[in-house]
Amino acid sequence: MNANKGRLWVVATPIGNLGDFSQRARETLARVALVAAEDTRHSAPLIAQCGGSASLVALHEHNEREQAQRIVARLLEGDDVALVSDAGTPLVSDPGFRLVRAAREAGCEVLPVPGACAAIAALSVAGIASDRFVFEGFLPAKAAARRERLQALVAETRTLIFYESSHRIVESLADFCAVFGDSRSAVLARELTKRFETTIAATLGDIHARVVADSDQQRGEFVLVVAGAEEGDEAATLAEGRRVFALLREELPPARAAKLAAAITGAPRKQLYADESTRTE
Ligand code: SAM
Repeated sequence: MNANKGRLWVVATPIGNLGDFSQRARETLARVALVAAEDTRHSAPLIAQCGGSASLVALHEHNEREQAQRIVARLLEGDDVALVSDAGTPLVSDPGFRLVRAAREAGCEVLPVPGACAAIAALSVAGIASDRFVFEGFLPAKAAARRERLQALVAETRTLIFYESSHRIVESLADFCAVFGDSRSAVLARELTKRFETTIAATLGDIHARVVADSDQQRGEFVLVVAGAEEGDEAATLAEGRRVFALLREELPPARAAKLAAAITGAPRKQLYADESTRTE
């Protein structure tokens, strides 16, 4: 590590409540020579609040590759740089991963200034097992791809965390119910730390019904925390049965593949076989 190189500070900013802007984040933003921000117009007022004289450059998903090289050049000249995103922790469903990697490859020190992260804030209040969890971020925007992703996750036993926007919350919740079943426990955390903060802890079916019934509950930003599959979860067993059936079906006739997949996974043989006949019709 060259002592003359600048350091890259990865700085978390609030997810809605300015009271969550840490003293250390403010001091870092006031001290650095350059701030790389996802949206410079959005971050300028926050950075102005901190004092200091950093210049701002945009770093977003469309320019990250080239911009990372320019920022690394500044680090190599000895300038300290901060990375911020529009809200929360950079790199978490936000740009920055390529810059961090490039800075590391150039031998520069990369340091976190931790703070708010919507996924962790939601998990911390969900009351759903938090010892093992997976962060899935945003689901695909297209319905078919979204359902396919959910199918691949239905047998996951760890707690699952998803981000969702107001545009898709209703249709995504409907897909969760269709794939995971209505009775899976979940928590929908909306507008965390903000004025209209709401947390609904219920089954997926009840959460979906409440959000459909109340258009206010469809506004804002969302984190959905879903309990992992439990032993005997029918939707999870069927999904696993379908996965094994599809593999066996490549080598065996359908009746034989369905029988073996049912024996291996405990999924209902008739259902696996019925799926096959609807597919081939
Ligand atoms: N980097 C951010 C973080 O650390 O959480 C996440 C950025 S991602 C582009 C934005 C998504 O995070 C939103 O669509 C929403 O799913 C979630 N999110 C951000 N702020 C939130 C809040 N105050 N309440 C609930 N969800 C939030």
